[in-house]
Amino acid sequence: MTETGTNTTPPDAVTEAGHPALAFLNTVSDDGKSRTADTFDIGETLLDQLRAGGLTTHSDAPVGVQLHAILELREAAYSVFSAIAAGRRPSREDRLMLESAIKSAIADASFSPGAAGPLFRPGPLGGLYDDLVLAILDLLQSGDLSRLRECRRCTHLFIDRGRGPGRRWCSMTRCGNRAKAQGFRDRRRASA
Ligand SMILES: [Zn+2]
Repeated sequence: MTETGTNTTPPDAVTEAGHPALAFLNTVSDDGKSRTADTFDIGETLLDQLRAGGLTTHSDAPVGVQLHAILELREAAYSVFSAIAAGRRPSREDRLMLESAIKSAIADASFSPGAAGPLFRPGPLGGLYDDLVLAILDLLQSGDLSRLRECRRCTHLFIDRGRGPGRRWCSMTRCGNRAKAQGFRDRRRASA
């Protein structure tokens, strides 16, 4: 999707974010940088959104403490990827959280070298949490991180696969059009 596109149908979450792990990190709905509102109210809705974002999982929808742990994982991973996108060093605390989650998911995973599909498949007990940790590991190893960007308006992250000056918004429908309208109002006020 280009900055100047006139496409009115919202593109699906996979092409918007560029990776299932990013679709997971982008399950916050606030417009700014607060990350205080989620795009889902219950675990089942989250699971639907993750699948729409490209995640392959056979896990049940998370409830209670599982959902809480998933949200903690999301925020630690957001902090790490946001730092990577900005060229900053991720905080030690968030790095350690992610490191221990990855080691634990790998310890339980089945290893399938040479087989079609992912190298590590989540173990039977890890549930959706381990599916997400392994998706994050896949993103970290994908070689795409130099193209990782954070939306100028909100906290959504995406892989910028375009050429030219680069994409500034998570999507035109969510942030680009509103940011441009705001810029137009600001310029009009300034010249009035
Ligand atoms: Zn945005």
